[in-house]
Amino acid sequence: MARIVVVGAGVGAMAAAARLAVAGHSVTVVERRETHGGAVGSRVRDGFRFDTGPGLLYLPAVWRDLFVKTGKRSLEECVDLVRPADPVVEHRLPDGSRVRLPGLSRGGTVRAVREAFGDRGVERWTAVLGRAREAWEVSRRPLMEEPLTAGTDTGPLRRDPYPAVPRRRGLLRRPAPPEDLLATAGRELGDPRLVALLTAGLWDWGVHPVGAPAGALVLPYVEQTFGTWYPLGGMRALADALHARCVERRVEFRFDVGVIAVTEGAGRATGVELTDGTVLPAEHVVVGGWSPPLLPADRVPAETRATDTTGAGCGDPRRKPPGNAVRAWSRATLLLALRGPRPTDTPHRTVVHGASPEEPPVTVLQPDDPSLWPAGGHATAVVTVPVPAGSGGGLPAGTAARLDAAADAVVPNRADREVWRELRTPAEIERETGAPGGAVPGPALAGGVTGRSAALNPGPLPGTYRVGGLAHPGGGLAQAGMTGAMVAGLIVEGPDWHGSY
Ligand SMILES: Cc1cc2nc3c(=O)[nH]c(=O)nc-3n(C[C@H](O)[C@H](O)[C@H](O)COP(=O)(O)OP(=O)(O)OC[C@H]3O[C@@H](n4cnc5c(N)ncnc54)[C@H](O)[C@@H]3O)c2cc1C
Repeated sequence: MARIVVVGAGVGAMAAAARLAVAGHSVTVVERRETHGGAVGSRVRDGFRFDTGPGLLYLPAVWRDLFVKTGKRSLEECVDLVRPADPVVEHRLPDGSRVRLPGLSRGGTVRAVREAFGDRGVERWTAVLGRAREAWEVSRRPLMEEPLTAGTDTGPLRRDPYPAVPRRRGLLRRPAPPEDLLATAGRELGDPRLVALLTAGLWDWGVHPVGAPAGALVLPYVEQTFGTWYPLGGMRALADALHARCVERRVEFRFDVGVIAVTEGAGRATGVELTDGTVLPAEHVVVGGWSPPLLPADRVPAETRATDTTGAGCGDPRRKPPGNAVRAWSRATLLLALRGPRPTDTPHRTVVHGASPEEPPVTVLQPDDPSLWPAGGHATAVVTVPVPAGSGGGLPAGTAARLDAAADAVVPNRADREVWRELRTPAEIERETGAPGGAVPGPALAGGVTGRSAALNPGPLPGTYRVGGLAHPGGGLAQAGMTGAMVAGLIVEGPDWHGSY
């Protein structure tokens, strides 16, 4: 049995802790705040409850696997996981049209796309998602299941797995230059409204479609194929269940104390030094909190984001994200407490598109979940838009107005029904996660330089490891959960292990 210290109580860190404890290790999680969950937070006020972080769960299989492998009760026995009722999402396109899509029903989606875009549109949509499925099958294992170590063959991660339709260019029939996701989607879908429909969801993962590899189309494929899920009570219920599972497996939690350094001896980690001056000895240190940077050569989120989500260095170099200075994305969020019941045909998620797919859409989440509302006919809405990280507490000009305009458009009689509102900026995210500028790391993507975009799972000092959004395979609840599985595999099976845990 080894002593293991886990830094931070984010979901990636807790996923590692639960798996390591069940393997017989003595695990202590050190969290600088007063609570677990990191970005997966909630705001409770006057009987209203809101998710302040993720509101949508993709790939719940990651968490099903963790609950099966770490205890007797399954994920579904610990969390009321539901698929939101159809329509799961309504898109409000720039031309004023609306398209409602069901969840987890390929047939239903095809019907909705045919109705809005005709036979030609649905044919193209289906072909693109078919190619995205091929990309998913090629990249799923190296991207989502296997750890990234110095010994990893990064070939499959560096190649864009999206099987683009062959193109030739010019009289000399030279091979066409590589393109980014937006260019590929534009050419293969042929209708900017279809492009908007397909790429809007990428923003939820923190991926800017300009400059991203076409392989990022695995994300809409994953959403359509495995669905979007929602835990009743909000996403915080998942973080609570994960914390409870860790406690059940005798993981010790120390709250309100941070880690300031990894201690070192004889060329390997020997433990951690805490903000209260104590030193916790450990044979292994798993780092899931990044403030201050604890491992030599830790990359700050802004640098990581520059490669993994804008695809700098891949795709068509002439197409750069607007204002290439945007190296990391965060979120601005408006929480709305409302009087009066939620209309029954309200979609779980409404996406209010920007003028073009290059402009981040505003997402309005209105889950049908009475546990979020005080008794007596009330409702909630969470209105979110990606903004550049590090706005220093303020927001880019026009952001608040965009959030308000989307709320007015989507929530009936919003002004009359508003009980109170709170605007959250990247500063709150920075406070809750420690990520500089409130950056929300996106998932690693195969293609271009992405194979080295998220940090390796083993740290540079023997005995150290990285989990959470900045480690391979990057951010997103499912990806962060997988970092925990990968690092547990490396510690339990040894540094040369290279399978799925
Ligand atoms: C507004 C928002 C919306 C999102 N939407 C979605 C979504 O819809 N779907 C989705 O899948 N994902 C979404 N995400 C991303 C998802 O929440 C994250 O990828 C995931 O929670 C990453 O968790 P993590 O393990 O990296 O830990 P984090 O959440 O980053 O938490 C890190 C923890 O470590 C602690 N810590 C940091 N430094 C130290 C230290 N030195 N000592 C001790 N403790 C320390 C912090 O206090 C914090 O508790 C969203 C994120 C945000 C913020």
